[in-house]
Amino acid sequence: MNHFGPYLPALKNAIQKLDLWRSSYGDSKTIPELPDPAELNRILDSLAQKLEGNYPFHHPQYAGQMLKPPHPVAWLAYSLAMTINPNNHALDGGPPTSEMEKECIALLAAMVGYQGDYLGHLTSGGTIANLEALFVAREIHPDKAIAATSNAHYTHSRMCRVLNCEFIEIPADENGKPDLNFIEKHASVIGTVVVTLGTTGLGIVEPLSDIKSLADKHGFRIHADAAYGGFFSLIREHLPSKVHWNYLSECDSIVIDPHKHGLQPYGCGSVLYRNPITGKYFKHDSPYTYFTSSDLHLGEISLECSRAGAAAAAFWATIQLLPLTEEGLGKILLQSRIAAVQLSNRIQENDQWELYQRPDLDIIGYFKVPPNAKLSEINRINQAIFDAGMKDKEKGFHLSLFKIPAHLFTKCFPVYEADTSTVVILRSVCMKEEHAGFADELADRLFTISAE
Ligand SMILES: *Cc1c(COP(=O)(O)O)cnc(C)c1O
Repeated sequence: MNHFGPYLPALKNAIQKLDLWRSSYGDSKTIPELPDPAELNRILDSLAQKLEGNYPFHHPQYAGQMLKPPHPVAWLAYSLAMTINPNNHALDGGPPTSEMEKECIALLAAMVGYQGDYLGHLTSGGTIANLEALFVAREIHPDKAIAATSNAHYTHSRMCRVLNCEFIEIPADENGKPDLNFIEKHASVIGTVVVTLGTTGLGIVEPLSDIKSLADKHGFRIHADAAYGGFFSLIREHLPSKVHWNYLSECDSIVIDPHKHGLQPYGCGSVLYRNPITGKYFKHDSPYTYFTSSDLHLGEISLECSRAGAAAAAFWATIQLLPLTEEGLGKILLQSRIAAVQLSNRIQENDQWELYQRPDLDIIGYFKVPPNAKLSEINRINQAIFDAGMKDKEKGFHLSLFKIPAHLFTKCFPVYEADTSTVVILRSVCMKEEHAGFADELADRLFTISAE
């Protein structure tokens, strides 16, 4: 199978090319002694053995958490660039990778529909990208709160504590729809509402168009946390949430993680601001960075200092191969969507199983119907299926568990006796392209193993 091995010749060629460039600076006479190849072999071999302790993130039987290996082109580009180890904090830390980062950001801005001036940069992840956007939110409305729904990523409320800013939790119903009346009632004290496009739990796309109407009426800002879902805007035409994606371009700031659905290794998030004036909140005058250019450099518009230039190189290389279009990266996201729809259909057609709700993106929640209509029985049976799936390496599966408060669950499934305070259902993130060709097999395995 084509895993990573077949790509080694391309990497070797490019590394040799860079070796020539390195040599072009002349012999330094102080090259460190080469490590003993046998010793290297031993260490890497022992590392490989330890790494085998991972779950099979590369295999479509793994449909648990938001995890998958990067695209080979991202791995190759990252490996190559890291032999130089540029730092995208400042232009001087890595002129070519800083340029690549600006190119990536321009393409992300075009993808979300930002026109004219905008500001943005890559980050080391979604949490720090959100922190930055919330920092800007607080600077713009220092006396107002930041609000997000109960399904928002758990780091938003924590980051508000870091920022010493009031956080308001917007209640959401059993289908994940935010309470719009609650937002209206509190609108006078809210400076920014975080709208999640693709919640981390079940991939719910929150109703941006409705919240945007409220924002127009009451004047609060909108930050879109599209860390997980952002790239689905490429295939909005195929999604039930199509209308909401069309309002992405009107959000004041947006976070998208290339290391979630952009095929990147960890260490690649991004933040975009619709109005470049936000750059003024970051202005600093570092004594450590010197300038060979008068351009605004990336370190001037971010909270983080050192960031891997290799991450920009990897994302840049990936979107050369798979541009940010429906036909490019979009075709990979479409496979994820197809997989989730197919698995959902199989579960709905089976009367021993229940789908918690139809998926908005590529994450689904479901459970096996227990013989007794009690929540504790759902918990027991589905935990057992979760455990059993991981026992058979070749015929098994890896899922995740998802907790739902009993009072919300019983609104959807009133026949169940609420004898516990939370329900634990099964969850599948179908985020690999290969899941599309494997959804039927996964459903078969699920039904077979759970019947045993
Ligand atoms: C993953 C995720 C985050 C956090 O991003 P990291 O890259 O893990 O730091 C924030 N919000 C949402 C919606 C996410 O899915």
